[in-house]
Amino acid sequence: MKVTEHIAEAKSTLFSFEILPPLKGKSIQSIYSGIDPLMEFKPKFVNVTYHREEFVYKERENGLLEKIAIRKRPGTVGICAAIMNKYHVDAVPHLICGGFSREETENALIDLQFLGIDNVLALRGDSIKTEATFRPHKDGHANAVDLIHQISDMNSGTYILDDVELNSTDFCIGAAGYPEKHFESMNMATDLLYLKKKVEAGASYIVTQMFFDNKKYFAFVDACREMGINVPIIPGLKPIKSLNHISFLPKFFHVDFPEELSKELLKCTSSEDVEKLGVEWGIHQSKELLEANVPCIHYYTMSNSTQVKTIAENIF
Ligand code: FAD
Repeated sequence: MKVTEHIAEAKSTLFSFEILPPLKGKSIQSIYSGIDPLMEFKPKFVNVTYHREEFVYKERENGLLEKIAIRKRPGTVGICAAIMNKYHVDAVPHLICGGFSREETENALIDLQFLGIDNVLALRGDSIKTEATFRPHKDGHANAVDLIHQISDMNSGTYILDDVELNSTDFCIGAAGYPEKHFESMNMATDLLYLKKKVEAGASYIVTQMFFDNKKYFAFVDACREMGINVPIIPGLKPIKSLNHISFLPKFFHVDFPEELSKELLKCTSSEDVEKLGVEWGIHQSKELLEANVPCIHYYTMSNSTQVKTIAENIF
């Protein structure tokens, strides 16, 4: 079923979450042990992130360095199929532009259709560590909007080579939105302009980047509505978990902690303190979002479900 159909049918706010594929070599069991504790909250869909290749340097016998591309977390599509088979919930694979030619994208979408996957979260992806800025595949897409166009084209039966009898796909397409602006964007107005283009291209719902200040989400939704972006906007929440997160999350995800939270974080002396506060803050944010009747609350588990489970016990 499509994410938008789940939302349309729902009588109250839905629960959903996102997981990461495990590091290469780990078993599918590591995925199930993260999902099992959350199934009691009846998620309607589970997102699975996509991780592109990274380059590492390996020293050869002659002392020269060899540049090798490896994907440390492969398996997105296989995990989606396994989740649907085991739990009978919809799985939403993330599909990115980075590293994909248009033909590889087309083939990936055909795989998803054959597996009975109805939803895709269409993203650009970030630059890899060796690139200063994002560089698309030479035959690929530079922005998520272009990927969304390709998926919408397939939904109307248009493939890259239009010379065979073509079977239309019927994907429900999600796109990313940034309540605190995407870090590369000149300003919020420009970012919203491009977000609107993603919706016009065929995205029928938006999932937000994590945020810690609900006021920013509410302001973002208002700004979207003013721009004429009228699709559901699903808030994404991430519980802070460790002392390391205090600097890592703002740096990596370009988000701020509100003062009320930062004051409490300053009092934490151990990761256990932060983890407890992360749960309390997650409950506080979730309660307010629930009262505002948001369509769904989407939790970033980063493959650790303990905090999300405690939050969900207090909310759903
Ligand atoms: P875009 O929509 O292409 O936007 C990127 C930047 O370009 C923005 O500044 C935007 O304003 C600008 N822009 C957009 N369209 C145009 C245009 N036509 N012309 C010029 N500028 C334009 N990354 C992964 O690698 N794997 C994942 O699984 C993953 N999952 C994510 C899930 C969510 C919910 C979110 C919010 C992010 C996720 N990301 C993931 C990170 C994401 O790939 C990065 O944030 C990336 O930098 C931007 O992706 P986007 O789809 O928003 O890109």
